[in-house]
Amino acid sequence: MDLNELRDEVLKCQKCGLAKTRNKVIFGEGNNRAPVFIIGEAPGGDEDMIGRPFVGVSGQLLDKILAACGFTRKEHVFISNIIKCRPPGNRVPQPDETRICKPYLLKQIELIDPKIIILLGATALKNMLGPELRITRLRGTWMEWEGRLVMPVFHPSALLRNPDLKRDTWEDFKKIVFKYREIVDAEHYSDHV
Ligand code: SF4
Repeated sequence: MDLNELRDEVLKCQKCGLAKTRNKVIFGEGNNRAPVFIIGEAPGGDEDMIGRPFVGVSGQLLDKILAACGFTRKEHVFISNIIKCRPPGNRVPQPDETRICKPYLLKQIELIDPKIIILLGATALKNMLGPELRITRLRGTWMEWEGRLVMPVFHPSALLRNPDLKRDTWEDFKKIVFKYREIVDAEHYSDHV
């Protein structure tokens, strides 16, 4: 199976109850061979309307951070979520929903084969690395999952609620740029790092 075949399958998915309430399935977007895979929580209202990941205010902030790192969605990253359909009212995804949907994410990671995975926020951290883990303790820490480097950072929506978190988050993304230069492209350019 390649990524296009996987997309076709996911876009038709009816496996969990969110299929009844969603407008669109948000598979994810970016470079199919991206060195950096970004995992968020779940699509929100804007994403559900438009069918693309991170297009609301959180997404705009994420794009600004990525731009400061010299990263673009087209070239450097692939962005998706733990689950592919919006939970009603933007509630946190339920365990049965993440259990059913997560194999799609794992297959995306296998096919894209990124060098670095960024976990945006607590839901991504808990579902990928362990339900007992705390984003406040582990953000900015390099971890390992299935032989890949993983960095948990605050979700952009947390930065919008609490702008004091922006300083720490920028330090975390600077570490990601340094690592990118170390293991992907020594010539990677950023205006700010
Ligand atoms: S959230 Fe995932 S498992 Fe549930 S319907 Fe959407 S794609 Fe399928």
